[in-house]
Order: sequence, then structure tokens, then C-alpha cells
Amino acid sequence: MDPLTRCLACHARLGEADVCPRCASDFSISRRARRQATALARMAVQALASGHHRQAAAAAATAVQLANPLLAQAVARVIRSREEK
Ligand SMILES: [Zn+2]
Repeated sequence: MDPLTRCLACHARLGEADVCPRCASDFSISRRARRQATALARMAVQALASGHHRQAAAAAATAVQLANPLLAQAVARVIRSREEK
């Protein structure tokens, strides 16, 4: 499930949109990172099930590193856009 269901800036519903229909905040980078992190997490599960623990750990660690910094960047961008208004 995508936890980004509402705009972080104005709380409008986002639905499937990457850009908020009300305030035009862009969440495309955050959503792309989350999709890639999810794919990596699935790869980690498969690797773990196949007994490739080192591969699983690397994929899982990359997923965490991928999603968190980009999400933090998106939040910082939203905060900056709010300060400009
Ligand atoms: Zn918005």
C-alpha cells in the first residue's frame, strides 16, 4: 500500500496522481523510489528463500537507503514550497 495517499503540503487526495491536483506539489520521485525499494525488497525475499543471505541483505539494505533519503528530499521540497507561499 502506498502511504502517500494525501498531499503532504495541502492534504488533498492524491489518488494515483504523482502531482497534487490542488497545489501542484510533485511526489513522483518519492513514489518512484518507493516502487524501486519495493522491487528490491521482493528480490531480497526471493534471495532469502533461495538461501542467498548475502544477496538478500544487500538488496534489503539498498531498498532502505533508496526509499528513505528520497522521501526525506521530497518532504524537504514540500516544506520549502510551503515556506514560499
Ligand atoms: Zn497539495
